[in-house]
Amino acid sequence: MCGIVGYVGSQQARDVVVEGLRRLEYRGYDSAGVALVADGRIAHDKRAGKLANLEKALDERALPAATTGIGHTRWATHGAPNDPNAHPHLGRHGRVALVHNGIIENFAALRAELEASGHELRSETDTEVAAHLLELEVERTGDLTTAMQVVCCRLEGAFTLVAVDSRDPDGVVAARRNSPLVVGIGQGENFLGSDVAAFIGHTREAMELDQDQVVTITADGVSVSGFDGAPAEGRRYHVDWDLTAAEKDGHDWFMRKEIFEQPRAVADSLLGRRTPEGLLQLDEMRLSDGDLRDIDKIIIIAAGTSFYAGMVAKYAIEHWTRIPVEVELASEFRYRDPILTRSTLVVAISQSGETADTLQAIRHARVQRSKVLAICNSNGSTIPRESDGVIYTHAGPEIGVASTKGYLTQLVACYLLALYLAQVKGTRFGDEIGQVIDQLEQMPDHIASVLAQSEEVYALAREHVETRSVLFLGRHAGYPVALEGALKLKEIAYLHAEGFAAGELKHGPIALIEEGLPVLCIVPPQGRDFLHDKMVSGIQEVRARGARTICLAEEGDESITPYADALVRLPQVPVLLQPLVAVVPLQLFACELATLLGHDV
Ligand code: GLU
Repeated sequence: MCGIVGYVGSQQARDVVVEGLRRLEYRGYDSAGVALVADGRIAHDKRAGKLANLEKALDERALPAATTGIGHTRWATHGAPNDPNAHPHLGRHGRVALVHNGIIENFAALRAELEASGHELRSETDTEVAAHLLELEVERTGDLTTAMQVVCCRLEGAFTLVAVDSRDPDGVVAARRNSPLVVGIGQGENFLGSDVAAFIGHTREAMELDQDQVVTITADGVSVSGFDGAPAEGRRYHVDWDLTAAEKDGHDWFMRKEIFEQPRAVADSLLGRRTPEGLLQLDEMRLSDGDLRDIDKIIIIAAGTSFYAGMVAKYAIEHWTRIPVEVELASEFRYRDPILTRSTLVVAISQSGETADTLQAIRHARVQRSKVLAICNSNGSTIPRESDGVIYTHAGPEIGVASTKGYLTQLVACYLLALYLAQVKGTRFGDEIGQVIDQLEQMPDHIASVLAQSEEVYALAREHVETRSVLFLGRHAGYPVALEGALKLKEIAYLHAEGFAAGELKHGPIALIEEGLPVLCIVPPQGRDFLHDKMVSGIQEVRARGARTICLAEEGDESITPYADALVRLPQVPVLLQPLVAVVPLQLFACELATLLGHDV
């Protein structure tokens, strides 16, 4: 995820582009850069760190005046967040400049091809290969739009690309596949942005593009085509948000925006994970297969929501690999003299990669000679730097304080780790692993189908504004989901909330149930009869004591209907993957209830 801006018109492009980047900085702040077309050349500057670093550099070394330009704020996925990896990237002869949002999955093969024909690449990014390819095509065809169409046909993965050609000061060309891009339509000027926030200060007229389309903007025109060159039309619309809302994509809170970004975040976290032969690959694993084969115990350390992701991971890893897994709060880990050996793998889960307790815990583990693998959302942060290997989640920056898309993408990374270990250790057949990856790849659609029921969940929240306390029940992989649902409510709605393993209820907590108390119940898929039926009994039990049961149960599960005061339907998915869909209504519920109670989410 990153912020992308393009401009052609009569204003100073530098100012328009930097202003657009400022509005998009929430999308990425690893580095920022601009490229302008001035006097038949590309003038560009790019700096690691926040946009302020670039602005300072531009104040010190003014770029020439220009009315055509592009810009980027990066959320690094390939290569550290430093100056060389910052966008824009230039082609071999500096004729073309390009910015990119997304992941080009086949970049390694393309890079090898370019290097074999003498290209020297200056960065570690997947993006730079596209810049080189684009320039080669522009040199061949003389036309940036045609070149973009040709190059896009060669790329796999997700990308928005925006480019300029130094020989054509009048146009900016962009393309999209599975990454966002909108056009802003002005008077004698036109804009491109990752979202309308990029240009909302200049125009509220926008145009939406379809997948696999190329758009060329000039000061007076916008033309759209498919990757195959066939002419196409964009959809014009009027934006009725103000500037503040635009930064949040029309949502009231970053948290809500990020909840709705989850299908995309999960899809991005799954990109590029399979070799052409269908094997699972984890780019920055850095631990050898030999090291992994020796692992006989895993300790997952994490805090808060990440800890609950770790609890789900335990079910998946133990099931698929038969390696025993402990899950431990980072803040407790160091103080109990944990048993660590060279064959223990410590997995540290941290969205930011900077969580102090988790960092201290991995340092302790490494002193004991254990191998450490980080699961992290922030490229180049301290925890992955101090670990032996890392699996990056590709959620994009998480601004909302309560983790949502961070949690879902951590779950994805945990599943990938479990499957990778199963592949290396041979505890599961390749086709079985492939089947689970296929199921994971369907999850973005399933998550979207849960989000489509948001209005029903909000209505439930409205019914419960008076409540003082909420309980959450789950079993198996649904138990950590119950804990996470309760945590969300505590941290943003300031409500008393508790999550319980449903089977534990009778050992005391059932005394808490009183008339009308809302209890949210995560019902396991029906295929798992034993688990499912036990859960249904638990629900009857709390209802008999007057609880108001709100059941999250899969589509077609009618056994639950007589005992549910309210029902939210979940798509049919395997039990181990159910947390990816079951947590979504709980996030929506917490966000809405907090809003209704007047809290600053
Ligand atoms: N994959 C590209 C990179 O790592 C683009 C990331 C982004 O979307 O900011 O530079």
